[in-house]
Amino acid sequence: MAEVVGNFVAGEWRQSKAVVENRNPSDTADLIGRYAQAEPADLEAALSAAKAAQVQWAESGPQARHDVLMAIGNALMDRSAELGRLLSREEGKPLAEGKGEIFRAGQFFAYFAAEALRQVGDWVESVRPGIEIDVRREPVGTVAIVSPWNFPVATPAWKIAPALAFGNAVIWKPANLTPASAVALTEIIADQQLPKGLFNLVMGAGSSIGQKLVESPLVDAISFTGSVEVGRGVAAAAVANMTKVQLEMGSKNPLIVMDDADLDLAVSVAVNAAFGGTGQKCTAASRLIVHEAVHDAFVEKLVAATEALVVGHALEDGTQIGPVVSEAQLEADLDYVAAGKAEGADLLCGGERLERSTPGWFMAPAVFVGTTPAMRINREEMFAPITCVQKVESYEEALEVANGTPFGLTAGIMTRSLARASHFKRHSRSGCVMVNLPTAGTDYHVPFGGRGASSFGPREQGQYAVEFYTAVKTSYVAAGRP
Ligand code: NDP
Repeated sequence: MAEVVGNFVAGEWRQSKAVVENRNPSDTADLIGRYAQAEPADLEAALSAAKAAQVQWAESGPQARHDVLMAIGNALMDRSAELGRLLSREEGKPLAEGKGEIFRAGQFFAYFAAEALRQVGDWVESVRPGIEIDVRREPVGTVAIVSPWNFPVATPAWKIAPALAFGNAVIWKPANLTPASAVALTEIIADQQLPKGLFNLVMGAGSSIGQKLVESPLVDAISFTGSVEVGRGVAAAAVANMTKVQLEMGSKNPLIVMDDADLDLAVSVAVNAAFGGTGQKCTAASRLIVHEAVHDAFVEKLVAATEALVVGHALEDGTQIGPVVSEAQLEADLDYVAAGKAEGADLLCGGERLERSTPGWFMAPAVFVGTTPAMRINREEMFAPITCVQKVESYEEALEVANGTPFGLTAGIMTRSLARASHFKRHSRSGCVMVNLPTAGTDYHVPFGGRGASSFGPREQGQYAVEFYTAVKTSYVAAGRP
């Protein structure tokens, strides 16, 4: 029986009664580990330790914070092959993507190591003679971080790194489906010279320990990434305590293919955007909006490229699409396939469960055509290897369809026209616009986020992160006369 891995609370690894088993979605016979589920007493201990540790950390100065963040970043980048394998084994993304995610997480820490040194503030002359004003940024205090399973290391990294860089304490509740990745990142952080209790890991179900964390009046800010439904509850809990909150949530990202697009490029971009990470990305393109002049040719190439994708064990050479993350996710995905068919869409390929040599949650990537904006498969986030083609008559119609959901995370256009690309950049109702690029795949040094139901609160990443992880203070000093 595998040893139970505890939670990291107040500088110590603590066991608890309840335990979950973590299994490989590519091979459910492979037990990755057993993980303790944090109890309310663990959370209370973490909150109290975090408060004391944060004061010490804030006083440690930017050089100390830089050095710690840089060390974490370097450890992640140096160990990306080993930890990427663990991530892929646990989450199901192909090995290259797992390694890439760990390396990227390291880059977030390295970036925010440098941000720790940037002195952000203003000195301002008062409108009243003899008075000086400075505007400075201070840590917000204790930050609760709640993260999803699909980027189990990169997403928490882009939250933990700025939280620590700007002098805050952290209590992290990772998704319960991916505890091994959470523990691996925590071990690296725990190896650093940090005040005891500055960083805490509390594993457990979102509905119990997650809910308690976001409801705590001892939390000063909450950074959440996950579904709209849960995000709404997190926002309500935050407002009840007047806690600062930032939410990154669902999406329904469109990729427009215009009549002047390079069709081969459009197909490879669409396949990458729709099925990368088994479609389980908040930036996945689940809506392909295609001009009628190129519709049939595009669809023919798209189906051929989709059918050629190799679906298999995440750690096997040659695998392009891993399993979906869990049995529940597979069932939900197959329900969407059934819903699409029931609403009259044509399924041209995929959409069925696949058997492989190991027992896992494999699904053939699916392409629907003949879909309309009113269909559920074009309105709801599926988080599945399913994409839906909608035929349009003009650029204007394409833009209207693209902007026609409550979401607005990323949006793409395939075109050779500078005028259309420029118009789309201005009029797309989204947080990130991609021209001749997949909707998924963003840089680590610039802001990331969306509009509408996709995001709420200050932006994440890049220099914009300072807004959420700091509080602004304006000080007035009557200088007097020497
Ligand atoms: P969920 O919303 O189900 O869960 C996200 C996190 O919230 C998990 O850690 C979960 O814990 C926790 N949680 C669940 N219920 C509560 C609660 N009542 N109070 C506090 N925390 C809670 O999302 P998924 O994990 O299923 O992730 C998929 C979703 O994440 C998709 O909708 C996707 O779009 C979104 N996402 C958004 C991104 C963005 O940047 N916009 C990026 C990546 C994903 P547990 O899992 O243990 O129950």
